[in-house]
Amino acid sequence: MHTDLVAALDIGGTKIAGALVDGDGRILARAQRATPAQQHGETVMRAVAEVLGDLAGSPLWGRARSIGIGSAGPVDASAGTVSPVNVPGWRNFPLVDRVRAVTGGLPVELIGDGVAITAAEHWQGAARGHDNALCMVVSTGVGGGLVLGGRLHPGPTGNAGHIGHISVDLDGDPCPCGSRGCVERIASGPNIARRALEHGWRPGPDGDASAAAVAAAARAGDPVAVASFARAAQALAAGIAATATLVEIDIAVIGGGVGKAGDVLFAPLRKALTDYAALSFVQRLTVVPAQTGTDAGLVGAAAAALARTPDVPAASR
Ligand SMILES: [Zn+2]
Repeated sequence: MHTDLVAALDIGGTKIAGALVDGDGRILARAQRATPAQQHGETVMRAVAEVLGDLAGSPLWGRARSIGIGSAGPVDASAGTVSPVNVPGWRNFPLVDRVRAVTGGLPVELIGDGVAITAAEHWQGAARGHDNALCMVVSTGVGGGLVLGGRLHPGPTGNAGHIGHISVDLDGDPCPCGSRGCVERIASGPNIARRALEHGWRPGPDGDASAAAVAAAARAGDPVAVASFARAAQALAAGIAATATLVEIDIAVIGGGVGKAGDVLFAPLRKALTDYAALSFVQRLTVVPAQTGTDAGLVGAAAAALARTPDVPAASR
């Protein structure tokens, strides 16, 4: 029986979610604020403090032993700072120190949001039982994280597994990260939609030009929409195969909005994987949709904090 809890924060460009989570990953209390993403860094911090204040108002708060934070990146876990692309007021913002100050000195574990999703999938989702896994979020951007040797592998700064910015097209389009031909530049939702539009696909009467609309068109047989997903699948397959070849993962899990496209994505992805994952030791690699839902960021942040709490059997043991 585990009576200790952890407080989890999931900080993104749209919302700041918080929860008290037990050793089985159950969410026992929640709080949330909109992220004042375009405002001063202190205003954003005030929203974080309000979420923590709401949690501290719970009668369960006294059982919280540590805090796990999954934040939009880049993060620097070694310095305890975050610089989320979509929150310009936070650049090298000392989030760990500030959260520790707000919560009376509880230990704080910081990881990137892609790593948090990975922790959640390993604990409760599709990567459960797999000691070597790559988990990805394919939506507005492409993020990810690694489980190696049965443990979450955040890397020194908390960003390891950031597959979205592996280059898979040597002379490809410039990527906002500064490189070119990145997986994200080809496979993210906005880039799937952009490529479909550039090649003549047009949205229906509702005007929806999102990747979800392209996926619907692909399911209906629109060849341009099919081709745009096939190209995204090819980029993902190349990135996944490279990862498997480097560190010997046996499963790749894909979540996020694009991951929900179903066979429109997964059929060409599995086919492309047979092209790129050619060596004997990567041929057994499987690729599957994510299983955790909207709470994955919170559950993953909790898993990271629990992994540092000695008497709780965390996912990453
Ligand atoms: Zn990039």
